[in-house]
Amino acid sequence: MEERKSKFKRICVFCGSSPGKKISYQEAAIQLGNELVERRIDLVYGGGSVGLMGLVSLAVHDGGRHVLGVIPKTLMQREITGETVGEVRAVSDMHQRKAEMARQADAFIALPGGYGTLEELLEVITWAQLGIHQKPVGLLNVDGYYNSLLSFIDQAVDEGFIAPAARRIIISAPTAKELVRQLEEYVPEQDEVTAKLIWEAEQLSYVPETGVAT
Ligand code: AMP
Repeated sequence: MEERKSKFKRICVFCGSSPGKKISYQEAAIQLGNELVERRIDLVYGGGSVGLMGLVSLAVHDGGRHVLGVIPKTLMQREITGETVGEVRAVSDMHQRKAEMARQADAFIALPGGYGTLEELLEVITWAQLGIHQKPVGLLNVDGYYNSLLSFIDQAVDEGFIAPAARRIIISAPTAKELVRQLEEYVPEQDEVTAKLIWEAEQLSYVPETGVAT
């Protein structure tokens, strides 16, 4: 396989802890893993081997890239998350998990998923909107899974609740190859107000176990 270098060292993937009903969701998770390997990008994710999370992590691990799973101690039981390939980092709760995943990544990608995926995705979008990070956020819109979410967000723009500039934070594409290519080209926009905000370093720099921010 020809290896293409990326500007990203590590990407955080949010995705279903279920496999979904269509085989295309599972295939997309494996294709995304393979795309990361091809571009020599490491993975950070929520840990475990369940659902699409297991498929993407296995593809990256089998392809020889580093996999970091960030798991709250309570979810570490094997019957909940299964085995994690690669490195496992224990954190004390879901908030610390998200902060640690965000801190470790240069970009974010959401595959199809449920409440957990949506919550993680919307949080990193909100953080981008507030200028907490300038990392690209991608939506892998497999088989139009996210069409209704994107329509709703467009409606929220029309209704005046989301600024057009904030709408542009979300980059969506139907395939992993196309999505990673678009994320590489992303240039963050910041409005005058958020550009002036100075966030406490702790927001994205939680260090697990000690709880000390760097
Ligand atoms: P969901 O989309 O509701 O299946 O939740 C998936 C997202 O929430 C993942 O990106 C994980 O970070 C987290 N999550 C939810 N359930 C689990 C689980 N059983 N094991 C590990 N992480 C999970």
